[in-house]
Amino acid sequence: MHFNLETMTANTLFYILITIIVLEFVWETYLDFLNAKHFKDPIPKLLEGVFDEDEYLKSQDYKKTNYRFSIWSSLFSLVLVLGFFFLDGFAYLDIWIRSLTDNSIAVSLLFIGVLLFANDIITTPFSYYHTFVIEEKYGFNKSTKKTFWLDKIKGLLLMILLGGGILFIVIWFYEKTASNFWVYTWGILTVFSIFISLFYSTLIVPIFNKQTPLEDGELKNSIQEFAKKVGFKLHNIFVIDGSKRSTKANAYFAGFGPKKRIVLYDTLIDDLTNDEIVGVLAHEIGHYKKKHTIYTLVLSILTTGITLFILSLLIGSPLLADALGVTTPSFHIGIIAFGILYSPISEITGLFMNRLSRKFEYQADDYAKNNYTAESLVSALRKLSKNSLSNLTPHPWYVFMHYSHPSLLQRVQNLGSK
Ligand SMILES: [Zn+2]
Repeated sequence: MHFNLETMTANTLFYILITIIVLEFVWETYLDFLNAKHFKDPIPKLLEGVFDEDEYLKSQDYKKTNYRFSIWSSLFSLVLVLGFFFLDGFAYLDIWIRSLTDNSIAVSLLFIGVLLFANDIITTPFSYYHTFVIEEKYGFNKSTKKTFWLDKIKGLLLMILLGGGILFIVIWFYEKTASNFWVYTWGILTVFSIFISLFYSTLIVPIFNKQTPLEDGELKNSIQEFAKKVGFKLHNIFVIDGSKRSTKANAYFAGFGPKKRIVLYDTLIDDLTNDEIVGVLAHEIGHYKKKHTIYTLVLSILTTGITLFILSLLIGSPLLADALGVTTPSFHIGIIAFGILYSPISEITGLFMNRLSRKFEYQADDYAKNNYTAESLVSALRKLSKNSLSNLTPHPWYVFMHYSHPSLLQRVQNLGSK
């Protein structure tokens, strides 16, 4: 696509934005459809025995239910967004907020805050239905209504405090430094993302979950033995109460330097044998040894810088405001129009990040294979897929676009090769 912001009319830009929104919806729906056509494929030979006959039928049912749910919820938000565009929602909201205050920073903060809050309210019934109807029906849900609503409130407060704080500083930079604002914004966002990466486990996770050091016992002994062999300190291994919300199990590596830690879900410990858990742990230690967190962090900081630079070229253009029917150009209108214009590009950067992430997963699997055993990890992955009724036959395009991990089949193939 090639266009010149100066000669384009507001009307053309309006329809470019609409086209991007609609095409993205069509493309995502098409991918979902492609994926769904393979829900009932025969299970690949290498994965035989993951499900018994009943479980496989149940998993097909689960996939179909989620597919329908995702179509309805994305169709609903598409209608809502288009309605907002065609009925001049942005203009009305802008006029209303300007009647409340003259302070331009407050106007921008309120404008973005109201949109995010409204979006949260509107999508809550969907997430409620997903948790208490769908996940409940298939026996995954462990969350109480109290936990659900507390999560919502905590999430909102966190968004207001952290998101609002950062946004305030960014808008302030925009007003004070004009075209150089992207450099300052990049600086503050870089400091913020390094800070969050370091302190995520100690500051953010405890708001939602309890993390405890691994208990003494046979499991700890097996882990200790392996950790010692590869030089990983045991006090960096924690158990989290994932069972508070779901029966689905997981493990992850977070942070770097002295703040690094491996987090195992309590559900993982319940479901797997000690040997399988050490296999999973070996995979996570692989992420640490290969410095994956740092690479991902550096890359995301670089992409943020490029995005901010392009944003700085466009954000001041009165055309963005015109296209959305708003008379006064402003930070908040610029950022919304830019967000949509830029989304095809961020779709592509997202693709690269997913691809890199899948590459890192193979490397972590290889690390587990070379330093522990491939069998323990294969057995753990099969069990985890079984217990979460995973899709064993995803469409390759869907994997390419959306998967941050290779499919189970790909991982088992890789772990099985010499
Ligand atoms: Zn991994």
